[in-house]
Amino acid sequence: MATVVEALVATAAGVDPEVVPVELPELGPDDVRVGIAAAGVCHSDLSMVNGTIRPEFPVVLGHEASGFVLECGAAVSDLEQGAPVVLNWATPCRHCWFCLNGEPWLCRRVEGVVSIPRGRLADGGPLNVSLGVGAFAEQTVLPRASVVSLPEGLPMDVAALMGCAVLTGLGAVRNTARVRPGESVAVFGLGGIGLSAIVGARLAGADPVVAVDVNEAKSAAALELGATDFVLYEEKVARRLRELTGGRGVDHAFECVGKSATIRAAWSSTRRGGACVVVGVGPVSDEVRLNAMEIYHYARNLTSSVFGSCDPDRDIPVLTSLVASGRIDLAPLISHRTDLGGVNDAFARMRAGEGLRTVVEFAA
Ligand SMILES: [Zn+2]
Ligand SMILES: [Zn+2]
Repeated sequence: MATVVEALVATAAGVDPEVVPVELPELGPDDVRVGIAAAGVCHSDLSMVNGTIRPEFPVVLGHEASGFVLECGAAVSDLEQGAPVVLNWATPCRHCWFCLNGEPWLCRRVEGVVSIPRGRLADGGPLNVSLGVGAFAEQTVLPRASVVSLPEGLPMDVAALMGCAVLTGLGAVRNTARVRPGESVAVFGLGGIGLSAIVGARLAGADPVVAVDVNEAKSAAALELGATDFVLYEEKVARRLRELTGGRGVDHAFECVGKSATIRAAWSSTRRGGACVVVGVGPVSDEVRLNAMEIYHYARNLTSSVFGSCDPDRDIPVLTSLVASGRIDLAPLISHRTDLGGVNDAFARMRAGEGLRTVVEFAA
């Protein structure tokens, strides 16, 4: 008998997703069945609903999640039933040129994959799961390679966020930019990823750490997580950041929005020879304009950070030990808790630029 669970399924761009029963696929020898404990609502989920990212429909949304192993395939010998895990939506192949070159976040197998067919609708119709995960569901089936073990006792809500926002934001600071103590940092956009970048900047010993957003209501969380200053995003934001850094501009700017205007502002906020890292994902239609003279004159580095240059198998254990030892506190990232039916409200808050991370919690 196939397992049927409740899941949040999007049927088309521009249409609110709905909670419907879905049938899990049969467990393959290398698969695990995971009962989801908590799942964060990520901007990429909204991007699949609003058409910025194009999955195959119908699709189970959700990719940032923690849970407990319910069942292991016959060939899975290193995980026990009941083990806590975090799900990995960018599981590298370990064989392609990029993986062998030590850049598994650029893995060929993961590149451009938005959804894959897996499971079925309860009426037998085809079904896809977003980013190979489909975490907005009571349970999901995925390859053993797509789950990372967690230590016992870690709060599962915080663990969920590690699967996307925290890996991406903290990784951009730690792995991509390699921020050093005393360097100045500005973070544009205070969603889950931007706030995680602030956590990473503080951990790296950056000073000042300037949080930038259109919504002043987010300043309290940013300051609690380690920002030294909050600057309202407006026309003169680059000038304000230069004022905070001896007239030079910041050493590192992290753009966590994915819009040409904020990329432009982040670039203009960095010092001569500084670095602007684009973490946000924007549409192909949104072009950034830089003139030839400024590219030369400012000697800046403009790059992006894909998945925080992270390998979850390497980086999740680092994050869990930082949380367990109290070196980082991720709890302030969570502003709302809900069930599957509340994800559409979380999307509304995201569109309005309100709230921090919403976590979908599942009954044990
Ligand atoms: Zn995400
Ligand atoms: Zn690969």
